Amino acid sequence: MSQEPTQHVADLMDRLVSLCKQRGFVFQSSEIYGGLGSVYDYGPLGVELKRNLREAWWREMVTSREDVEGLEAGILMAPAVWEASGHVAGFTDPLVECRNCHRRFRSDHLDEEQPGVEPGGWQCPVCGVTGDFTEPRQFNLMFKTFMGPVEDEGSVAYLRPETAQGTYVNFRNVQESARQKIPFGIAQTGRAFRNEITPGNFIFRTREFEQMEMQFFVKPGTDDEWLATWRERRVAWLERLGIRSDRLRLHQHGPEELAHYAKEAWDIQYYFPFGWQEFEGIHNRTDFDLSRHQEHSGKKLEYFDPRTQERYLPYVIETAIGLDRLFLVVLADAYAEEEVEGETRTVLRLAPRLAPIKAAVFPLVKKDGMPEVAHRITDRLRGRFPVFYDESGSIGRRYRRQDEAGTPFCITVDGQTMEDETVTVRDRDTLGQVRVPVSGLADHLADALGAS
Ligand code: ATP
Repeated sequence: MSQEPTQHVADLMDRLVSLCKQRGFVFQSSEIYGGLGSVYDYGPLGVELKRNLREAWWREMVTSREDVEGLEAGILMAPAVWEASGHVAGFTDPLVECRNCHRRFRSDHLDEEQPGVEPGGWQCPVCGVTGDFTEPRQFNLMFKTFMGPVEDEGSVAYLRPETAQGTYVNFRNVQESARQKIPFGIAQTGRAFRNEITPGNFIFRTREFEQMEMQFFVKPGTDDEWLATWRERRVAWLERLGIRSDRLRLHQHGPEELAHYAKEAWDIQYYFPFGWQEFEGIHNRTDFDLSRHQEHSGKKLEYFDPRTQERYLPYVIETAIGLDRLFLVVLADAYAEEEVEGETRTVLRLAPRLAPIKAAVFPLVKKDGMPEVAHRITDRLRGRFPVFYDESGSIGRRYRRQDEAGTPFCITVDGQTMEDETVTVRDRDTLGQVRVPVSGLADHLADALGAS
């Protein structure tokens, strides 16, 4: 990691939004009705990329480890959970309104963006009027709803703003059923909802998003060391995913940033087209959550160590990453434009294991039996990889479309195929082509993909 990030191409966010729509990665929610602000829908390619990212995280954090178990808690939980966790009273952002244009902002964001300006004296980022804001008001970010037919205070329920609480309340269930000993972790992926005051930057800050969180339970006193271990592991994993290390950096929370429950906290930041921003957090949450749930539920949540005969409430080291934000990181990092034979080509250099489509199969022309052969090859490969058949448009246009989708390999059936049963395999990044026998194609791709 260094402080000199590679610059993005100009207007990258606009280009990404348009590429995502055109190629079917991401659409705005309810678009035909004018769109719903800050919610996005993932299209055919987006859903595959998202699944590949989620699976890569799950493999890293759960299936490849002996000391982490998986869990999937409900989005709705007993409202008492959110009383105990402090979210009902304290999951708030300070909201101010511009008296001129009536747009609302987070005052902490205005402070950050306009350093040195007295609180309330900011310039409105929308209408430009200076110093005409309401007093900050604490705004709770949790979405409220009702369970059952009666809409009264007794039936209030919340859409979870984080997956972590579902893990804490299941701590004993998981520990006892999986017979884990401390230190061990519990991981979850799932939707979270926050009624953000100022969502924006495409899928960076939305009101519905997916989190991938892991809570690692440790003996108090070993927590500082475990935080350092997980911080290193998480950065190493992001680098192994192929994210440029010069666009990654760590930021430690100062005393004024630290959440009330946290002893130490680090953000992993990425150099987005709109600047350095967090996309993963690593937090030492101490025994705050377990002790609150123990107190509010009246149920013992202590761990008994059979070796030392000690009983204690474990400390928690949390790693929390937003899947949608990681998706944006991966896209921004993979996007490139380059000159090829006098034309600009747009290419997503996704790590092959993340690419939604692994190979596209083209007949050079729509005659002479080539489509039939290409279809047969596609069907045979489909059992092993996500593949795509395309016969429309010139071969150059078909290559370009796959470059924009991040497809690592394009296979072309041509005249020679009909004679010697070989095809060309074109590499997205080097543009090099090799001839491969049809019989060895699946193994050739498996090797090439495996090497990524
Ligand atoms: P921020 O300061 O950006 O509001 P946070 O510090 O509240 O984020 P956490 O509560 O630590 O975030 O959540 C963990 C991760 O969840 C974040 O690093 C981010 O990737 C993701 N996340 C949080 N809020 C949103 C959101 N509104 N939209 C998309 N992802 C989000």
